[in-house]
Amino acid sequence: MSEWRLAYDGFDPAEEGLREALCTLGNGYFATRGAAEECEADDIHYPGTYLAGGYNRLKTDIAGRTVENEDLVNMPNWLSLRLRIDDGEWFNPLAVELLAYRQELDLRHGVLRREMRWRDRHGRETALTARRLVHMEQPHLAAIEWRLRALNWSGRITLRSALEGRVINAGVARYRQLANTHLRPESAQPLDDDSVLLVVETNQSRLRVAQAARTRLYRDDEQLQPTRALLREQGYVGHDLCIELTEGQPISVEKVVALYNGRDRAISEPALAAAQAVRDAPRFAALEAAQARAWSQLWGRCDVVLEGDTRAQMILRLHIFHLLQTVSPHSADHDVGVPARGLHGEAYRGHVFWDELFIFPFLNMRIPEITRSLLRYRYRRLGEARRQARTLGLRGALYPWQSGSDGREESQVLHLNPKSGRWLPDNSHLQWHVNAAIAYNVWRYYEVTDDREFLAFYGAEMLFEIARFWASAATWNDARGRYEIRGVMGPDEFHDAYPWRDRPGLDNNAYTNVMVAWLLRRALEALDRVGPDRGSELRETLALDQAEFDAWDEISRKLYVPLRDDGIIDQFEGYDRLEEFDWDGYRRKYGDIHRLDRLLEAEGDSVNRYKASKQADVLMLFYLFSAEELAALFRQLGYPFAGEMIPRNIDYYLQRTSNGSTLSNIVHSWVLARANRPGSWEILKQALESDIADVQGGTTPEGIHLGAMAGTVDLIQLGQTGLEIRDDLLRLNPCLPPELRRLALRVRYRGHWLDIDIGCDRMTVHAPNGWSGPRTIMVCNQAQALDAGKPLVFRCQLKRGGRRPAVGDGARGRC
Ligand code: BGC
Repeated sequence: MSEWRLAYDGFDPAEEGLREALCTLGNGYFATRGAAEECEADDIHYPGTYLAGGYNRLKTDIAGRTVENEDLVNMPNWLSLRLRIDDGEWFNPLAVELLAYRQELDLRHGVLRREMRWRDRHGRETALTARRLVHMEQPHLAAIEWRLRALNWSGRITLRSALEGRVINAGVARYRQLANTHLRPESAQPLDDDSVLLVVETNQSRLRVAQAARTRLYRDDEQLQPTRALLREQGYVGHDLCIELTEGQPISVEKVVALYNGRDRAISEPALAAAQAVRDAPRFAALEAAQARAWSQLWGRCDVVLEGDTRAQMILRLHIFHLLQTVSPHSADHDVGVPARGLHGEAYRGHVFWDELFIFPFLNMRIPEITRSLLRYRYRRLGEARRQARTLGLRGALYPWQSGSDGREESQVLHLNPKSGRWLPDNSHLQWHVNAAIAYNVWRYYEVTDDREFLAFYGAEMLFEIARFWASAATWNDARGRYEIRGVMGPDEFHDAYPWRDRPGLDNNAYTNVMVAWLLRRALEALDRVGPDRGSELRETLALDQAEFDAWDEISRKLYVPLRDDGIIDQFEGYDRLEEFDWDGYRRKYGDIHRLDRLLEAEGDSVNRYKASKQADVLMLFYLFSAEELAALFRQLGYPFAGEMIPRNIDYYLQRTSNGSTLSNIVHSWVLARANRPGSWEILKQALESDIADVQGGTTPEGIHLGAMAGTVDLIQLGQTGLEIRDDLLRLNPCLPPELRRLALRVRYRGHWLDIDIGCDRMTVHAPNGWSGPRTIMVCNQAQALDAGKPLVFRCQLKRGGRRPAVGDGARGRC
């Protein structure tokens, strides 16, 4: 196994959907699943192409209602490339005798490669090497190269190279009853001898998308002149290229594609831009060289080196790769958010959830410019968030649980339980906690980057409006002498109502209330940080006065948290009245109980009756805050907080969670890693398998789980190094498991790189090109002076099964 390659041997129809998702190529502007060029969408293949921010809305009459959904649209299939010998059948791996089949995703260079050899029913043997890229340097370009060799025959071949715009959104079986035709064909025409142009438009959002394709044949450097026949139908355009293939003499087919849409900058209109780009594009080899350069620069910033476990290293890189393919430096040129399932499939319709919370830490410390632009996606939708708060009769801004094009609430109102076949009301829009996650993201971005301009011109306004929302949502309970937040859902999606109440929503979700207490304080702090001039501008514009700030301060100290005497934090008020769930019995009955909400509903029961969570909820607090921060927060709220509450709550909730969301494993690995760091490696390895092994049994083919992918990188980046930024101080507290020989990574802190290299017997911390962070950093709780250009070197020693650097005994400069 290579540390830079995801490889598969053989062709397995049952696994093809998973491979397609995991071999998706993209560049933050668009992405295309790793589907075989020669196949069309069917039960095995799904060649989806998705444009970041390319949404469309459609209405469907279902279960007696009209529902409207906004989807990330499956764009025309530019991959389409087929081959036949003489006038025989089109090549299809399932209809021939496959002699060899290998597929490799080269993570280092961003190239997908398939090598095939087959024998057809006439005994003709053919070899094909297909390579493909979606360009990371030139985000509007993609290319395919086929190298074809007739091994024991000579004859005429036809290559059909096309742009297929007659596609629908059919990637998720559960959604197939919903309207799914989003594209209207506009034009399909030849551009010149070897190129064609297809223009389509989304039928509601009127997003015009143009693809141009140039297909040429070569023998070595000689361009061949096949006979060409134009194929042209509504929504489809291409060429049949016919040529003689001689035994043993390879030819190559190069298809270069340009993709533009009507919202791109610095263009006149997409068709003109696509036609020009495809005319200007160089040959595949030159595109490939530039692709390698772009990826090498990204890896220079983003790689995390793990020595000692090749598979973990490869998966970690796969996760970084997909993260950067979904959001890249190109995202900053577009008005896009970060879709929870990547640009890799149609699950969750390409919507943006709270998963940013798991994704931004990696970006903050590598390419904060991307986080900034993704936060500005939120900022631009502040108006819609204000509208949502107003609709509820509240003040400030409430960001929606699911967001797409314009920032309105996109959560579905009905969802299908595939186990029972019933369409059920969906209350997930009550997950107002997303509004706290956005505040958290703004603040953490600011802490890492010290980007005061962002805070002053965008972040503070978001924080103030979010704080204002929560202050207006909190109600005073006189009897309790506390503020409360009622009628919400926490992160755990199994619980959306009390079994004893007929309206949805739960009261005093502990996670939400503690987050609100935290963010109200940050909003007040932001007011100080932006300086008096900007502060008074914002006060004036947003009509904020001292009474409102005083209210935030008061609520931040008096929010109710359902805390039991034994230190267990109830997930929400009344949680203790729920029944214990028969975990063993249900595991025996069903095996996989990740989605026991569906199993119970199909049985006529409801998961709302039980102490059973889909995912980490209370434990999110231990994920997002250090023990010290939590202790301070509880103090602020006037509640006791003892260190032993952490393991007690971890133990309590781990036993009551089904991990029906891949995010849950990340949180659990993290909190366990803190309680038991040397043992964290095993847990992290389980989290690494989430997508590559499709542990949820069928969800990854519909789109990767970007939050979980990024979360694993974060578990290494922060978990294994103990890196923490708190109170303007950078802390390192590394502890590597004995299995690892070395962990090396760089993080960007306030405009400078910090290289951290933890080896078998020493750790080096080095700011090679300057340092504007505080001169003192904390390493294993001891202050160390960090000077730019002077590496700090510590000896390492084994402790409790893990390696920690020894500091204090003149460690500096010693090996
Ligand atoms: C999880 C949510 C998550 C969403 C998108 C759901 O299954 O429960 O927490 O935001 O997936 O990833």
